[in-house]
Amino acid sequence: MGLSLGPGPGATVQDRDPGFRALVLSAYEYRCAFCGYEGLIDGTPVGLEAAHVRWWAFDGPDDLANGLCLCSMHHLLFDKGVLGASPDRTVTVSSRFAARSPAAERAVFSLEGAPVLRPRRGCPTVADDHLEWHTRQVFRGPAREVGGGDRATGTPGSERSPEELW
Ligand SMILES: [Zn+2]
Repeated sequence: MGLSLGPGPGATVQDRDPGFRALVLSAYEYRCAFCGYEGLIDGTPVGLEAAHVRWWAFDGPDDLANGLCLCSMHHLLFDKGVLGASPDRTVTVSSRFAARSPAAERAVFSLEGAPVLRPRRGCPTVADDHLEWHTRQVFRGPAREVGGGDRATGTPGSERSPEELW
């Protein structure tokens, strides 16, 4: 049988260009561009990743105009099309996403309409064409209406208290 000497299962996207992660995290000052999460373990940023807006496999370049610093959860949700960004650089949430717990509501719905954090002065923001690509190819549209009520957990005027849903 013989083992492949190629990258093992532990190899990640970042292995292609280790500089991309450092570049993006530094530009966003080690904060998630969606929720503002910043965390350290022994002084080293943890739980933060460099997201490609246009995927590398679809000619997305490893540069700041195509990068966002996101916490691990929001990176995954961005890549799955649950989260996106509008042309005015606010966070959009897929109307197809259902939160089944207050934790999920906080992690996702609380971001709706929030401004996407800008990189520090002098660094380029995400390019419009990469954002449009993500909206077209990845985001599971349509986006929820901001402040449009929560269809996932009941109708407006419902007399059930949140506790009763649990
Ligand atoms: Zn985040």
